[in-house]
Amino acid sequence: MQRDLVGYGGSPPKIEWPNGARLALSVVINFEEGAEPSVADGDFESEPGAETPIAAERDVRNTLNESHFEYGSRVGFWRLVDIFDEYDVKVTFFACGRALERNPRAAAAITERGHEPCSHGYLWLDYFRLPPEQQREDMLKSIEAIRRTTGRRPVGFLPRGATVECREMAVEEGGFIYESMTYSEDLPHFLDVKGKRFLTIPYTLDNNDFRYWRSFLEPEQFTRYLSASLDRLYKEAARTPKMMSVGLHLRTSGLPARANAVEAFVAYARSRPGVWFARREDIARVWWEQFG
Ligand SMILES: [Zn+2]
Repeated sequence: MQRDLVGYGGSPPKIEWPNGARLALSVVINFEEGAEPSVADGDFESEPGAETPIAAERDVRNTLNESHFEYGSRVGFWRLVDIFDEYDVKVTFFACGRALERNPRAAAAITERGHEPCSHGYLWLDYFRLPPEQQREDMLKSIEAIRRTTGRRPVGFLPRGATVECREMAVEEGGFIYESMTYSEDLPHFLDVKGKRFLTIPYTLDNNDFRYWRSFLEPEQFTRYLSASLDRLYKEAARTPKMMSVGLHLRTSGLPARANAVEAFVAYARSRPGVWFARREDIARVWWEQFG
């Protein structure tokens, strides 16, 4: 896979979103809780942190940090899906297999409420730290776990710490219609993967609640930031339809104050005509249909 620094070269294609929408808005919720490395699960280390200021030692359980993740699965999940129900918004879950196995009620609710389960690997573990054989094993295990717990086979793939090998594996596996292992564009685009055409739907580190992990951020700042992205893309979309991604985490945006920030943004986006809240699989299908 070669790097591509040209892309659409300033002339993005004119995709026609359903119902003449201007902007496809993909909200992603990461469901990683219970799949993070944990000595309690026999992993060689515990997840070093995210926002908890609790140092993890090798070979020692870190129960406080474990509980921070548990909050996302136990409470954050339900709070966020209730908000999305209220606004009739369907989202994509970047879901880890082991996380879903540990909360079967939440896993079932993903599909019952019309959301999409996308594979985020079986474990929430950087693939670049694994040999290719283990990456493949983890990918296949994630597909099975997601199928079993949600009733649906994932059609998208984005493991933590993606590698060139795993991008090739995703294409060879045959059941995926897209991957999301890039931040390189606003719009989906095709990749040449060993001579095969494959679709990538870019993700975002920009409109992403992981920013709360780096410094204190007021929820209103996050809403304003997301709204500013939407305003810019919405304006440009008058000429060429656009896409916007938002990345959330259960243990992060599932906290009470931060859930307000999500709700305020969703309400704002809902108020703009021509914003299509789309699952990634829906975006992928439209893209393949028109440009595949
Ligand atoms: Zn993630």
